[in-house]
Amino acid sequence: MKIACLAGDGIGPEIMAEAKKVLAALDLPDIETADADVGGAAYKAHGHPLPPETLALCKASDAILFGAVGDPSCDNLERHLRPEQAILGLRQALTLFANLRPATMFPGLEDMSALRPEVAREIDLLIVRELNGDVYFGEKAIRTLDDGRRQGFDFMSYAEDEVRRIAHVAFRAAQGRDKRLCSVDKANVLETSQLWRDVVIETSAEYPDVELSHMYVDNAAMQLVRNPGQFDVVVTGNLFGDILSDQASMCVGSIGLLASASLGEAQTDFGTFGLYEPIHGSAPDIAGTGKANPMAMILSLAMLLRHSLGLEAQAQQVEAAVAKALEAGVKGADLGGGAGTAEIGDAIVDLL
Ligand code: ATP
Ligand code: MG
Repeated sequence: MKIACLAGDGIGPEIMAEAKKVLAALDLPDIETADADVGGAAYKAHGHPLPPETLALCKASDAILFGAVGDPSCDNLERHLRPEQAILGLRQALTLFANLRPATMFPGLEDMSALRPEVAREIDLLIVRELNGDVYFGEKAIRTLDDGRRQGFDFMSYAEDEVRRIAHVAFRAAQGRDKRLCSVDKANVLETSQLWRDVVIETSAEYPDVELSHMYVDNAAMQLVRNPGQFDVVVTGNLFGDILSDQASMCVGSIGLLASASLGEAQTDFGTFGLYEPIHGSAPDIAGTGKANPMAMILSLAMLLRHSLGLEAQAQQVEAAVAKALEAGVKGADLGGGAGTAEIGDAIVDLL
């Protein structure tokens, strides 16, 4: 199995180094890593933020571990040469259609949440958002009607195969967790959502061990702040997922703790091809100071082990080590603590 490591810009290389320490400490047989340039670093070395050799390495790998892209010194470049284009180009070129964002409350961090501590304490959920379809990609325009008024429109659609493939990802994710899946739609108003619901129900026949429920998106937004503890895995379309995943991340707190996965079609016997990255950016303001919290990067590695390599036990081991480090008071500056990047990585390795 091959993991492509794209560290990128800013704090990317610093946090990637800590994730690699953790991977090495797991001492897994038959895993190799390969590095490639991406983002501003790639522009400076090769003249493009996503060079052909980087894309080729990604295509030849089983999974991608991605740091961050973004470099203020590249702000004046033409849009297609900017570092941020690299991640958009990768998602498109590799058909990464499923975005997974776990939101878990780590013990002792309840004060960082936008919710009351006793409510926040119950959060342990995973949002699975469809990334390649919905109203974002349908025909859209602002046109002028015969009477001179302007009208904007966006065509919302989902084909059944698009719904089925994201449903499979969500059911499989639920099987690896508490085996409860809530599908969020607006089936009382939207035909797109009615088809979504029908296809999710059809797909559920293949996952009899997972308990399926349905919720309208307006209610889901309310329930997410009222009682987030009721959710295990939530699956939803591109538009609703965009909003709900940002809402969920604020319920947990620090940006330095949140990991994400973008999954593609199954390419291996074990699981699904995917790209794994922290939700935060390249943090140029703290790059080179040794203050970056590598936990989101290390938790992204845990997601890689789970979803692309099928190593659920090792994924849980890494997540437990991060939780224990936090409980022991190993906290970065983003959490009001004083631990540096390497110190946090070393503590997690010790706890493994
Ligand atoms: P992008 O556009 O790439 O998402 P951004 O401008 O939204 O970037 P980030 O790079 O995510 O911003 O940084 C936002 C703030 O959070 C910065 O002050 C940064 O220092 C801080 N930050 C981000 N990631 C971390 C981290 N891992 N550890 C500590 N602080 C972080
Ligand atoms: Mg940002």
